Amino acid sequence: MLLLPKFDYEEPKSMREALAMLSELKENAKVIAGGTDLLVNMKKGTVKPTRLVSLKKIGGLREIAREDAGLSIGSHATISEIADSALVASLFPVLARSASCLGSPLIRNRATIGGNIVTARPAADLPPALMVLGAEVQLKGKGKGRTVSLDSFFTGPGSSVMKAGEVLTKISIPPVPSFTGGDYIKLGHRAALEIAIVAVASRLTLDRPDGVIVDARIVLSSVAPTAVHAPLAEKALTGQRPSEELFARAASIAATECSPITDMRGGANYRCDMVGILTRRTLLKAFHDALGMKEGGA
Ligand SMILES: Cc1cc2nc3c(=O)[nH]c(=O)nc-3n(C[C@H](O)[C@H](O)[C@H](O)COP(=O)(O)OP(=O)(O)OC[C@H]3O[C@@H](n4cnc5c(N)ncnc54)[C@H](O)[C@@H]3O)c2cc1C
Repeated sequence: MLLLPKFDYEEPKSMREALAMLSELKENAKVIAGGTDLLVNMKKGTVKPTRLVSLKKIGGLREIAREDAGLSIGSHATISEIADSALVASLFPVLARSASCLGSPLIRNRATIGGNIVTARPAADLPPALMVLGAEVQLKGKGKGRTVSLDSFFTGPGSSVMKAGEVLTKISIPPVPSFTGGDYIKLGHRAALEIAIVAVASRLTLDRPDGVIVDARIVLSSVAPTAVHAPLAEKALTGQRPSEELFARAASIAATECSPITDMRGGANYRCDMVGILTRRTLLKAFHDALGMKEGGA
């Protein structure tokens, strides 16, 4: 049995105190949120922090609230809270769907949205949905805070633009235009407790119910070092009248815009084929949802 190594555990009551604790030890101190990634990695010995700084006593980090007609989610909100939130379901069903795909009820009750982003796994469930929604994250360090678009946050498997000592405090999602729909589909060997073999999130915005696509977003997951957009497929959709043929054409383009590895969960060619299939399905669902959305937003 793998045991946890020794470490100091701190529960600061303010962000200022937390940032001071983190900056003091630099790489040797880490934030702990739900611990569902961090503690596993510490047991395996792949990370060796000597101090864990919990954010759970700091107020306001768990709030899910309206913000400028969009939504703000505190980084400590759990995946269950997001999956079960009526506000998330009504404003951004694609995010609720991706949250409900993560792990199992036990894991979702502990795991946080901040942890799912910062861990920067290529197969993490929330980033693709957050990326098609145009989400930004707020980072706080000892100096000035900064806001980073999730599109430019990830730099590789397990790495991001975050610096040692920084804390992700909040995720902001802008409002969705009228006639917009989205979908997220995760392919795994099992329905629960499964890391994605391939996952795709798509979002379409029409100018009017019988009109053309004015904005198309497709994010592919688990088929590249980070979640990635499929820019050529997005371009092929924009300005076009929606049809099954158009979605099939965009899906075949998306299948060329990934660079998967072969591992025990799936071969590279199989993953590319599945990108095509999931992209077509998510586009169809996004289109139907866009038609069902009222003018002025959901
Ligand atoms: C059995 C099992 C099944 C799983 N299934 C899935 C799955 O299906 N899909 C999926 O995407 N993931 C899955 N995971 C991985 C994990 O549960 C998620 O990535 C989870 O969201 C991590 O969140 P956490 O709060 O537990 O993060 P933690 O483990 O606490 O932290 C993860 C990393 O992020 C850092 N961190 C956390 N919060 C912050 C913050 N606010 N600011 C700065 N740094 C921070 C920590 O220092 C650490 O480096 C699974 C894990 C297990 C054990």
